Amino acid sequence: MQSITLTKQQLQQMITHVDAQAPLEACGLLAGLDSKVESVIEVANQAQSAVQFVMEPVGQLKAFEWMESNGMELIGIFHSHPAGPETPSPTDIKEAAYDVVNVILARVDDQWRARGFWIEDGTFKEVLLQIQ
Ligand SMILES: [Zn+2]
Repeated sequence: MQSITLTKQQLQQMITHVDAQAPLEACGLLAGLDSKVESVIEVANQAQSAVQFVMEPVGQLKAFEWMESNGMELIGIFHSHPAGPETPSPTDIKEAAYDVVNVILARVDDQWRARGFWIEDGTFKEVLLQIQ
């Protein structure tokens, strides 16, 4: 996947969610079709950690059920790095479980920045986030 498309409102929803959880990491799912995000689904970070996230399994299951009943697919996973960096951590690379875009929201100089990455075979490359 070369890019995903999301709206300014969807980006703002992610930023509001991760900002409210900081300094802990926050996470969620991006549901949609093809490469267009239709819904941002917030999921609790069970790890309650500043350097790691583990999606709370019941919330994650409910999100998948909601996607299925609404004819949507998982196209992205987002999580925050409240203290940076903007790129996937070694743990993110090791634990990437789905072939979807990984959106990382990193707080740099008090501003949240979002970047997309494709993680595969122990490495990552950047994916364009098209904000409309
Ligand atoms: Zn991470």
